[in-house]
Amino acid sequence: MTGLSVGDALGAQFFVPGPDRFAVSRGETPPAPWPWTDDTEMACVLVHEVLHGDGIDQDRLARAFAERCDPYRGYGPGATRLLHRIRDGVPWPVAAGEAFGGVGSCGNGAAMRVAPLGAWHAGDPAAAARAGLRQAEVTHQHVDGVAGAVAVAAAAAVAAGAAGGVRPAPGALLATAADLLVPCATARALHRAGALLDASPEEAAYELGTGSQSTSQDTVAFALWVADRYLTDYPAAVATCVAAGGDMDTTAAIAGGVVAAYGEVPTAWRDHREPLPDWLPAPTGPLR
Ligand SMILES: [Mg+2]
Repeated sequence: MTGLSVGDALGAQFFVPGPDRFAVSRGETPPAPWPWTDDTEMACVLVHEVLHGDGIDQDRLARAFAERCDPYRGYGPGATRLLHRIRDGVPWPVAAGEAFGGVGSCGNGAAMRVAPLGAWHAGDPAAAARAGLRQAEVTHQHVDGVAGAVAVAAAAAVAAGAAGGVRPAPGALLATAADLLVPCATARALHRAGALLDASPEEAAYELGTGSQSTSQDTVAFALWVADRYLTDYPAAVATCVAAGGDMDTTAAIAGGVVAAYGEVPTAWRDHREPLPDWLPAPTGPLR
């Protein structure tokens, strides 16, 4: 949760004019505080759901997403409308199914919030994928909207499973995630990412996209490519997402959440982030 929220909060600092996106790579960051956005708010709701201890209850989760939604945290218009419909009493399968003219959302919102849930299933990417799918369905009914969440959850489970031990081989996170997906645009992007292991970050960003459409298929592959490349270096992972531009809070939330499942977040960065909401219980273990 720390890795996701610090990436989200730092990435979000660069949507206003002023801060130099490339300075983060040199270790320079904006002054505190770094307010977090919808990525963190939804991830906190999901972590809270996991802490109930009885799996993902989709009705309870949908209600909690809707009730906790603070529209000033940067939710997209589609998400705001969907969560309002659920709060008004529309069942989530109806509200999520009618989005975008009935095809459902392929936005990156289900992927941006899921890394801590994946880490909870440390070492079991298949279980992480199933939980990632269940939490995605309540807001995202398009195959790519779900696939992005499945991929990120699986990658985080691999990273968390290796924490304190041998670093997964380059490409392992991407391959595990891609293998758990049905054929779709997000899966194809992950396969392309797996063929770019020797590429520069600029080349990977160009080939895979950086979330400028806010879709799963143009966000998740690059974010997981970054996590795979910089699994032992949290600041480098987040700096790479910020330098690449696009939907920086979301790519940094995904990459940061996955990388922190394996390693550490700098204390100074954590202290710059706005505190997490007080309704989230004190973090322990894999949800730290
Ligand atoms: Mg956001």
